[in-house]
Amino acid sequence: MQGNLYIVSAPSGAGKTSLLKALLERDHDLKLSVSHTTRSPRPGEEDGVHYHFVSQDEFMRLAGEGGFLEQARVFDNYYGTSQSAVQSLLEAGRDVVLEIDWQGARQVRKAFPEAISIFIMPPSVDALRERLGSRGQDDEAVIERRMRDARSELSHYAEYDYLVVNDDFQLALDELQCIVRAERLKLVRSAERHAGALQEMLN
Ligand code: 5GP
Repeated sequence: MQGNLYIVSAPSGAGKTSLLKALLERDHDLKLSVSHTTRSPRPGEEDGVHYHFVSQDEFMRLAGEGGFLEQARVFDNYYGTSQSAVQSLLEAGRDVVLEIDWQGARQVRKAFPEAISIFIMPPSVDALRERLGSRGQDDEAVIERRMRDARSELSHYAEYDYLVVNDDFQLALDELQCIVRAERLKLVRSAERHAGALQEMLN
């Protein structure tokens, strides 16, 4: 049986990346899809691990070949999810997580209406401002720009199936895990997993 496909979006400053990292450490049946991007690696980021870092030409070539399940321009860079990588993981029965923005989420829902989408938000505007401002000595204009970008992503929260507030990290992590577990217990998936026992008991 095919695995479940999860879409996770959040404004930057919501703690999405740390939450997903912790979720993947707890749940070894989940696999994070590694996106392609034209942006440069940040310190500590590895090619093929955090992203596949590609030139704009290479990105456009892959896009032209229909290699992306979804693609979007986010903050002046292009990002895309490999169609074949996701498809083969799902076909192997693995559950796959896409960490993508709202534009990509819309495209994935069209291609995979059964995808499960989760939006992560910060608890308050003050918390968001503090998280967006606490990265160094950024000036007020830079923080305001990040706040605008965050509001723009946040304005799409209602398009998602689940909304998780990251106030207390452990609680938000537990809630994400609950979603994944509940989705696995849905009748079609659970009945398939326990088909033998069901058949035995009903015969
Ligand atoms: P960052 O450059 O900070 O890693 O990511 C910036 C934004 O791009 C985040 O909102 C992230 O979710 C989004 N993003 C990362 N990978 C993809 C992707 O493959 N597709 C889309 N549509 N968005 C992505």
